[in-house]
Amino acid sequence: MKLITYMAQGVQRVGTMLANGQVIDLRVAVEALLTGRGEADAVDQATYLVPSDMTVLLERAKGDLSLLRKASDIAGNESKVDRVTLTLQAPVPRPGKILGVGRNYGAHAGEGGLLAQDEPRIFAKVPTSVIGPEAPIPCPASVTKLDWEVELAVVIGRKMKDIPEPQALEYIAGYTIINDVSAREFQFDVKPPQTTFAKSMDGFTPMGPVLLTADELTDPTDVELRCWVNDTLMQEGNTNDMIFPVAYILSYLSRFMTLEPGDVIATGTPSGVGCFREPPLYLTQGDHVRMEIPPIGVLTNDVT
Ligand code: MG
Repeated sequence: MKLITYMAQGVQRVGTMLANGQVIDLRVAVEALLTGRGEADAVDQATYLVPSDMTVLLERAKGDLSLLRKASDIAGNESKVDRVTLTLQAPVPRPGKILGVGRNYGAHAGEGGLLAQDEPRIFAKVPTSVIGPEAPIPCPASVTKLDWEVELAVVIGRKMKDIPEPQALEYIAGYTIINDVSAREFQFDVKPPQTTFAKSMDGFTPMGPVLLTADELTDPTDVELRCWVNDTLMQEGNTNDMIFPVAYILSYLSRFMTLEPGDVIATGTPSGVGCFREPPLYLTQGDHVRMEIPPIGVLTNDVT
């Protein structure tokens, strides 16, 4: 199931996107399903189970999305939303936290001439940096080293603390694409480095287009990622090159901090970012960035 967040007539809603691109208003679909089952409080239940905020929805689902999936599968005309009238938002527009993993692909660590770490290298991206598909990435006037990073992002579905690696994937609600946009001068040129600041400026976390639920991406260790800038293929990798696989990252994090529903973990980028190219290449106004992870979709954003 592809969960989405969208704006329609000025109101934020959570829905699903079917294989043919049709959008379903999930609250209407759940209400129809429950009404069909003869439940008297169908409206109240649907309002509770499908709030407009994805983080709250995941919290209330308690790791079980089966009712929502059923409602989406059998949704009738009353639940269909005209694509023309809606704007896709990031699937999780305001996560509780966004954590990033640095230098997590063998080839990317190699291109940076940097040693691989013994444990994941963790940083934060602040939630206000999130933007949706097609939204512009604003380049601050003084930033000259704006760079791209295509990443598989994990969205947590259930509260997770001290979970061993073999169970870690069970806590995932689903996956989306993140562009871990970075102002490299703040990451590499200043002392001490300011990684979180470099990656948390307004619009520096494009996310989307959908949250693909974990039942439809069962093996995160074999996922292809690609990134084009202005139609030139810049990054092409596979998560099988990760130094720390998804399950290890989640288990490791959960030893130190509680992961909560809606939290997002950007799991690192493959080789091909701008700063390690020869000569280096950075994003400027008007550039078009297109990221693709085949089971999830395509995320595009222009730099302004
Ligand atoms: Mg990154």
